[in-house]
Amino acid sequence: NGSLTIAGCGLHPGHMTLETESLIKNAEKVLLVAPNPLSIQHIISLNSTTEHLGKYYNEDGISRPDIYKKMAKHIIDLVRSGVQVVTIFYGHPGVFVTSTRLASDVLKQEGYPVKMLPGIAADACLYADLDLDPADTGCQSYEATRFLLTKRTPDTSAALILWQLGLTGEHTSDHFKPGEQGLKALSKLLQEYYPAEHMICIYEAPTLPGFQPRKDWIAIRELSEAEVSVISTLYVPACNESVFAQERLEWLGISITDID
Ligand code: SAH
Repeated sequence: NGSLTIAGCGLHPGHMTLETESLIKNAEKVLLVAPNPLSIQHIISLNSTTEHLGKYYNEDGISRPDIYKKMAKHIIDLVRSGVQVVTIFYGHPGVFVTSTRLASDVLKQEGYPVKMLPGIAADACLYADLDLDPADTGCQSYEATRFLLTKRTPDTSAALILWQLGLTGEHTSDHFKPGEQGLKALSKLLQEYYPAEHMICIYEAPTLPGFQPRKDWIAIRELSEAEVSVISTLYVPACNESVFAQERLEWLGISITDID
């Protein structure tokens, strides 16, 4: 009977969990949806049924949504034909991943067993490399273009993570680089809430074990000219302290001095 298990291989080969490795070894069919390039050989060596869906990215003129739909269709067809499929994405397979989500939504509705295993995502690496704890100030996390184009007020007393910085403003979904005005617009928007000189970090986790991460600290006003890639994530630290809500302290019958 067909089933789908969705797993992630982390950002470099050393990140694969023992659980995912064992899953791959024992799978009836492994589909590489978008693994870390360096994990490909490892995965193929674990399971000879492994098929790479990267081919869909190479079709001329194909848009991103169409690539994801084609990948999803391939997964769905296999599961419907009775195969127990394991798909592998890089990082955490449920974080900003469209293709497997499309497939799992359809398959779940049709009653097939669908399961996801967690993987090491870019934000997990960011916390480690920038030596910060998201619980200190709290942390907001958005897709960069969504953040730019939707009405919302960022909480400047909490950290902010923007994913897919390298596609900021790329609303057409046809390209793999920032829309021409994207970073400029994002810099402008951030300056409505943060000081122009507030320091932010363009972060890229190493995709090879033992290599150094990219940690470029720049002022918000410099963001419009920044060099970004498909793996860049933006980290914006809080720029002010959070303020206790007096009336809510009273709900609990305590005062600020009771909290450390
Ligand atoms: N599933 C992946 C995320 C896929 S979306 C994960 O769990 O990490 C792609 C976005 O993830 C990129 O635009 C970037 O914001 C982030 N990302 C991917 N690789 C990264 C890396 N090596 N360093 C920093 N961020 C990365």
